[in-house]
Amino acid sequence: MIRFENVTKRYRGTSRPALNDVGFEVQRGEFVFLVGASGSGKSSCLRMILREERPSDGRVVVLGRDLRTLSNRKVPYFRRHIGAVFQDFRLLPSKTVFQNVAFTLQVIGSSSAFIKQAVPEVLALVGLEGKGKRFPHELSGGEQQRVAIARALANRPQVLLADEPTGNLDPGTSVDIMQLLARINANGTTVVMATHEAGFVDQMQRRVIELRDGVMLRDERHGGYGDTSSIPSLAPEPERGAAAIAALTAVLEVQREVNAVGAVEPQAMDAAVEAVEEVVSSSLSEAEATDAAAKAAALAAARQPAITRPAAEPRPITRPAAIVSPAPAPVQDPLEAPPVEKKPEPATSTQGIPVIDIPDVAELGVADRLGLGADGEDEVGPTS
Ligand code: ADP
Ligand code: MG
Repeated sequence: MIRFENVTKRYRGTSRPALNDVGFEVQRGEFVFLVGASGSGKSSCLRMILREERPSDGRVVVLGRDLRTLSNRKVPYFRRHIGAVFQDFRLLPSKTVFQNVAFTLQVIGSSSAFIKQAVPEVLALVGLEGKGKRFPHELSGGEQQRVAIARALANRPQVLLADEPTGNLDPGTSVDIMQLLARINANGTTVVMATHEAGFVDQMQRRVIELRDGVMLRDERHGGYGDTSSIPSLAPEPERGAAAIAALTAVLEVQREVNAVGAVEPQAMDAAVEAVEEVVSSSLSEAEATDAAAKAAALAAARQPAITRPAAEPRPITRPAAIVSPAPAPVQDPLEAPPVEKKPEPATSTQGIPVIDIPDVAELGVADRLGLGADGEDEVGPTS
């Protein structure tokens, strides 16, 4: 599912490689800890999996895709199968819990029917039922991280990446979040979590891949954290939340505009989404990010009238302004095909985390995105 083959990463202007000949393979359904001191290369590994960074040498294969040959154009589609959460939560402060989770789905063109169903389900999964109308500042840190996890899971990704997700939380809350991640994994999602926190790793007795100065020290099936004496305390992670928020907020504006015209074209939306991915994955300043997002907006809007939608009907006026219809990929990507995947085991809860049935992505997410959902009243799909 995730394979690193002799991966070396040299960042520009650095002498020592951040990753040095790293190789491992993660199977579907595994829970893997990436451990090591600050600067050991954990985040670099996760960024490589998301194709936010590319190896200087070696090869990364994720979900059957060699990321060397994945075109920039296809990266946004590829990333829809991977959820990610971070130490600093990265929520949109002016949006409610519901809107924060719904937003990701809106950006990728999920239907309002899907959003209305999926958001409450995923909020229940993370233990936030009834809190959809709160704003991030009205939540505890642990609850904010739950929102971020819900957002990452909303599109039913096959893989969840978590980069120091408990780094800003007190120990008790961290345990809750770890239990939630374990529950998500038990429901079938592959989880890769970077952490420097020994306690959890020891307790969880899951697979551990340890890095030191970019070199893989060990890969143990049921490892503990190992010798912690050499691991210094974690340096603060650079904050990129502001840039991401600026970009995403700007693209929401694009969406509104495009929606007001009455139709959404896949190419226009793709351009905007692709630009967001670029902005979010780079380390631009807030001003640069806003600027880039504005350019995406202009592009999306400019392309809009030039394209005619086959067999399109006028969009119902009652439609919520910020929600767009599913747009089919212009070229059908193999990644978009329903995954051949075993259904999640119905897990039993022993730790107070509510268990809900996660609808099969093959039946819900993908079909819905392609406009093939059972709920036909809301959409005029491209195939209808
Ligand atoms: P960790 O997540 O384990 O703290 P990172 O992957 O963030 O480790 O960093 C690994 C090494 O790569 C560190 O020495 C860090 O300074 C360096 N590094 C990370 N990102 C960049 C970058 N964009 N440019 C230059 N050096 C980087
Ligand atoms: Mg890191």
